[in-house]
Amino acid sequence: MTGLLGLPAFDSLPRRIRDAADSQILQVAARALARPDALRLYAGESDLPTPEFIVAAAAQAMREGHTRYVLSRGIEPLRDAIARYHLRTYDTPVQADRISVTVGGMQALSLTLQAILEPGDQIIVPVPVWPNIIEAARLVGAEPVLVREAFDEACGWQVDIEALLAAVTPRTRAIFINSPGNPTGATLTLAQLRRLLDHCRSRGIWIVADEVYNRMNHDDARHAPSFIPLIDPEDRVIVTNTFSKNWSMTGWRCGWVVAPRSMGPAWDNLLQYGSTGVTTFVQHAAIAAIDHGDEHIARMRSQIREARQVICDALASSPRARMAPPAGAFYLFFSVQGLRDSRQFAFDLLDATGVALAPGSAFGPQGEGWMRLCFGVSMPTLRTAAQRLVPFVDAWRP
Ligand code: PLP
Repeated sequence: MTGLLGLPAFDSLPRRIRDAADSQILQVAARALARPDALRLYAGESDLPTPEFIVAAAAQAMREGHTRYVLSRGIEPLRDAIARYHLRTYDTPVQADRISVTVGGMQALSLTLQAILEPGDQIIVPVPVWPNIIEAARLVGAEPVLVREAFDEACGWQVDIEALLAAVTPRTRAIFINSPGNPTGATLTLAQLRRLLDHCRSRGIWIVADEVYNRMNHDDARHAPSFIPLIDPEDRVIVTNTFSKNWSMTGWRCGWVVAPRSMGPAWDNLLQYGSTGVTTFVQHAAIAAIDHGDEHIARMRSQIREARQVICDALASSPRARMAPPAGAFYLFFSVQGLRDSRQFAFDLLDATGVALAPGSAFGPQGEGWMRLCFGVSMPTLRTAAQRLVPFVDAWRP
């Protein structure tokens, strides 16, 4: 179809819109949909249902008439509940006036980037990384500067803080930190977060801290190291979070940011003009989730820890797999000897076994040669997937 000037409408869109990359994860998803028996380990979600008490709270809120416009930054009881969550989880008071409720963790990130980046600014991003952050930065005209994480079997995936700092230029406006990280599970220590914060404070650089996997740490601590206890209310740090992962609410689209207090009016506007806030009855359900969901989080944490053990033990039994148990999140990012085309490997694996994984190339060129498996799924699904995956890996040759 062509438009008025004889050009297809798509061609007349701004370059930054035309250039946005398609998600390679969705390409695998599309192929997996054609197979009803596929084991879907490509997505970043658990297959557990949202807990019933959260569903009930949403239904009740709808019946009570919570179906109308509310303040764009979120209803006060939810912002208060999120403040209470920070106090009890991080032993850190975070006042509700620093909190804004967003349409999932994704809008938390995209509005954060809109708020702090000018076209032409650079944002430093450790890679491999969840691709949405790269494309969201490009959509606002910024330039992502990619710094490779290191891998070895003994230490797993690690973000090199000194390499991040060495990548700083006069155009650097922000550094993106996703810890624990998707897809590698790399998790920064508190000392590393401090080092980064000190450096960014002295240079006026923003830190965008995506902490959506912060409760998915595989040691005994209550949470992975977080910026929350380290930052002052006016530090140039924005911490983004979501209800999606901890509370099994990916489809509900509710998240939040903790931002400097003085940005409050900016967040009013960003949310007013970005989405006019999150669905009202979802916000009421989110209060129930955050106030009464600690037991669910504890169960989820122990389940993914067990799942991590199961999948790592299974793959470690193959001499052809290259991997290390991830420090956090619910992904195993592994490689297979000779693997160069992860997209093709994903298709071949799916066709031969019904196991659907995300190709590493979906997480940037630095992820090529690797595969991402989400072990947040139920144990029977994971065990079946492992039983099919390991013989395939053993037998596979480039
Ligand atoms: N940040 C990271 C690192 C993620 O992996 C995801 C989802 O997979 C998000 C943010 C977005 O979360 P949400 O589904 O709440 O938008």
